[in-house]
Amino acid sequence: MNVKPVLSTLALLGAAGFLGACATPSTELADCAQGDVRLTQDFSGSPAYACTRTGPAAFQLAVAPESAPINPSPWFAFDLEAERETGVSVQLDYGEYEHRYRPEINHGDGIWAALPDTAVRLEAGDSVAVISVDIGPGIVRIAGQEVFGVEDRAQWRAEFAARNGLTRQTIGQSIDRQPVEALSRSASAQNAPLIVILGGQHPPEVTGVLGLRAFLETLLGSASGDNPLDLYEWLIIPDLNPDGVDRGHWRQNLGRMDLNRDWGPFTQPETAAVLAELETRVSEGQVPFLMLDFHSTHRDVLYTPPDDLGLSPDNFAADWIAILNGIWPGEGEAFARGPGHNPDLPTSKTWFATRFGAPGITVEFGDETDRGRIMMLAQTAAQALRIYLEDAQAENEAAGFLPPGNARPD
Ligand SMILES: [Zn+2]
Repeated sequence: MNVKPVLSTLALLGAAGFLGACATPSTELADCAQGDVRLTQDFSGSPAYACTRTGPAAFQLAVAPESAPINPSPWFAFDLEAERETGVSVQLDYGEYEHRYRPEINHGDGIWAALPDTAVRLEAGDSVAVISVDIGPGIVRIAGQEVFGVEDRAQWRAEFAARNGLTRQTIGQSIDRQPVEALSRSASAQNAPLIVILGGQHPPEVTGVLGLRAFLETLLGSASGDNPLDLYEWLIIPDLNPDGVDRGHWRQNLGRMDLNRDWGPFTQPETAAVLAELETRVSEGQVPFLMLDFHSTHRDVLYTPPDDLGLSPDNFAADWIAILNGIWPGEGEAFARGPGHNPDLPTSKTWFATRFGAPGITVEFGDETDRGRIMMLAQTAAQALRIYLEDAQAENEAAGFLPPGNARPD
């Protein structure tokens, strides 16, 4: 059987995924989805790559980005189902890209675990990965990282907001008309400093989601008594790219834009919604104080402004990191620090510093960082921020005033 011409046509369709994502499934997709052993890609977070059945229990997926050139984050997410116990193989063909994500597996109970290294064989200079697993009877989900689809994320936001007394507000819509939702918490006084927390710009950056959730649970979940959080306005937008998440994109939204290269141009509805919300708040007297934006990369690192950029509060990153390292219960260093400010790169971090003169920090967790360590990093970062805010409150009370946007310890 000569499948090559069909495969390359489908690979092209996959590369134009945002055009074809709603089309009728191809015969190859349907072929993979039928029989005693099946591969399907029809849940939120699954990219619907061209699939070829290469044996009774063997499949090949043409892993292709939503457009190119693109940050190399070759994502995959699919279900395997078998009527009886079966050894199944799935070949991930990355084309010109290379294997990046260590596969995770979920046996239908919501619990994810890394596949053992012996289940993944890399070939052809890492441009092919062959996953071999014993499954069945029943269904398993395999993906580059844990899958948090749009329904899961909406449910988490709703539950988190309810538990912590946050207000939920739809500040805009994605191109696919999904809500861009903000969670907010109001200050006890007018003209308060504003802290902005962002996440979910890049769909496969799941450790950033895990870190963001743990950070927020720790920061807001411990609110009691005399609370330094009350002196600030909080604007939290955990899921800025619902379309990219839903369709299993590597990087972009449906407008073929890396959203973290749109802070300044604001050509996309998701980023424009955040801009409009911030402008409204500033016009009402709120003073942008700090922005944290959660992501994933190859290591645990905080990308901060340089200390001499002249921001207010000055020295925030150095002070926060010093507190964080002082209470870090783990071995060695918590996060690495990468100071920098590139005005030509329209990221949220750079835009926040340029537009408001306030620090923006990109919080990055490693793709393969142990999940327990991610919890510890995020919780410690939240505790350190709370201590920073308490110190600022104490210092300002001692001085007899709270200058908006200027609260800071030494
Ligand atoms: Zn990112």
